[in-house]
Amino acid sequence: MSEMREAGWRGTGWDNLKPAPGTLALVQDFVNTRNYFRGGDLLGDAEEATVRLAERGLLEGGERVGEAERRRLVAFRERLRGLLLAHNGVAGADARDLNYMVSSAALRVRFGPDGRPDLEPVVEVGVVERIVGRLLAEVVQAEAEGRWERLKACRNEGCLWAFYDASKNRSGSWCNMDICGARHKMRAYRERKSGSR
Ligand SMILES: [Zn+2]
Repeated sequence: MSEMREAGWRGTGWDNLKPAPGTLALVQDFVNTRNYFRGGDLLGDAEEATVRLAERGLLEGGERVGEAERRRLVAFRERLRGLLLAHNGVAGADARDLNYMVSSAALRVRFGPDGRPDLEPVVEVGVVERIVGRLLAEVVQAEAEGRWERLKACRNEGCLWAFYDASKNRSGSWCNMDICGARHKMRAYRERKSGSR
């Protein structure tokens, strides 16, 4: 079952308490290559980016990303995070910038034997376009299934971790209530107490 597959990044010890279902986890994990809370960026240099992208099947055997490609992927990642923050009620996602960024990615429709359409990246384009296309295909599919808006970025400004909000009314704000949620509550409490707002 796809739900049983391993999510998160091997050997990092990074928490993934609220994993997205199915292949949407690929988008979540891509955004979570950057860990603001604990520090660390799996796309921080071209060599590690190559290893990590290959780990999740985003690169084909022997393919590598160079520095210019790495930078484009990081820029795309942070724009994606902006969308996940928008899902969490935080304004400021730059859709125009993102739309420019994804304009070179091409997708095509393929039908399965059951008649179900599937989106997949056009393979004849560059490596960044293919990776972006692969992730966009997951985004569009998640949107069709009503799951995309449940993928959110944590509201803790020092965290911004991507999590899947499975709550009934989609009201989740934090990747981890005990850490990010509690931290926010404490600060609000202190601010109220000291009268500063
Ligand atoms: Zn958090």
